[in-house]
Amino acid sequence: MSSRSPIARVEALLVSVPAEGNAFAEGNEETVVVRVTDEDGRYGIGECITTPPVTKAMIDMPTVNFWSQGISDLLVGRDPLEARALYDLVYHGSFFHGRRGTLIQALSGVDIAVHDLAGKQLGEPVYKLLGGARCERLRPYATLYPGDIYDRPVAEVAAPIREQADIARDQGLRAFKVPVLFGPEVPDRDVVEFARLSRDMVGDDVVLALDFGYRWWDWHDAAWTLKRIEDFDVHFAEAPLRHDDLDGHRRLVDVSPVRVGGAEFAAGRWEVREWLERGGVSLVQPGVSRAGGFTELMRIGEMCEMYGAQLIPHSYATGITDTASLHLQAACLTVPMVEFRSSRLGPSRLRTELVSPPEPEIVDGWVELPTGPGLGIDLNEDLVAAHAMT
Ligand code: MG
Repeated sequence: MSSRSPIARVEALLVSVPAEGNAFAEGNEETVVVRVTDEDGRYGIGECITTPPVTKAMIDMPTVNFWSQGISDLLVGRDPLEARALYDLVYHGSFFHGRRGTLIQALSGVDIAVHDLAGKQLGEPVYKLLGGARCERLRPYATLYPGDIYDRPVAEVAAPIREQADIARDQGLRAFKVPVLFGPEVPDRDVVEFARLSRDMVGDDVVLALDFGYRWWDWHDAAWTLKRIEDFDVHFAEAPLRHDDLDGHRRLVDVSPVRVGGAEFAAGRWEVREWLERGGVSLVQPGVSRAGGFTELMRIGEMCEMYGAQLIPHSYATGITDTASLHLQAACLTVPMVEFRSSRLGPSRLRTELVSPPEPEIVDGWVELPTGPGLGIDLNEDLVAAHAMT
C-alpha cells in the first residue's frame, strides 16, 4: 500500500572504510551517501562521486541569500514526486556558488535519493518514474583492471587481462573495458600492440572498449594510434585527449575510425552540449552520480538522440551508482550499456557491503529490469554508522 508525504530531512552521510587492497584508493575508500527522509520515516538513497566534505557543505549550508541557498533548506517540506522541478529549484537557488562542478555533483546524489524515495512511496521502480522502459533488458560493461601497468612492458600485462576477463565472463558479463594507462615511456606503437593483445585476451565474442586515460595532448598522436587499432573491433576509445580540449576532439573525431568518447567529468547538460556541438564526439560518458542525477542524465540522453550520439555513463563507485545507471539505461533510448564495477575484479568493501543486494544477476551479458520499489536496494545502516567520516 503506497502512501505519500513530504521531505523532512536531507543528509550527506560520509563513509570511509580501510581500502584493504583496493588499487583505486589510498588508505581509505570514501563515498557520499545522500539520504532523503520523508515525514513518515521512509528514506531514499543516492550517491555523489566527488569530494565528501565539500558535498556535505553544499547540502547543509544555511541559506545566505536568494541565489545562494542550502540544498536541505530548499527541499525540506517539498514533494519527492516533483523531482525534476526540485532539481531546477536547487540549480537556480544555488546560482551564485553553483551551476557547475561540485554543486552539480552534490545535486546528483540528492536527485537520485529523491527518485528512490518517490519510488518507495509509490511502490514502483525508478525507471517507471522516468517514463518507463525503452528496452527489455540491460547491459552492464565491466572495467577490467590489470594492475598498475604504467611502465610495464605490454607483453607482461597480457596474462592479468586474461585473468580479469575470465572472472568477468564467469560473472556473466560480456562487455569489457581495458584501461590503457601506460606512461609516456611506453611508445604509441606498443600501445597499438597492447590493443591487439587486449582483443586476443578477451576473445572475439565480447564488446571491447579501451580507456586511454587522457594519454595525448596532441590530436595527431591520438589519431596515429586510433587508425591502427581499427581492426580490433573497439567499441569506443575513452579519454584519448585532455578533457577540456574540445577543438582537439573535433579534429580527432574527423579522422578517427574508432568512436571517440568524452565528457566523463562534464557537469550538467550545458557542458555536455559543448562536447556534442564543438567537440563533435558521438559518445558522451557523464555519470549519474556526478553530472546531475536522473533528471539531468535523462535530459542529456534525449539531447544525444538529436546528435546521433550514445550516452554510456561513467560509474566507478558503489552499488548505489551502478544500480542507478541501470535504471537510467532502462528509461533512456540512447544508453546502449553502462559502466559496472564488478566486486569480483578488485577488493572493495564499499562495493560489496554498502547496499544489498550488492550486484544484480547477470546472465549472458544481460540484466533483467529491476522490480523493487525505488532503486530496489537497501542501505547497510550498520556499515554507515560504524564508518562515518567526521
Ligand atoms: Mg573513465
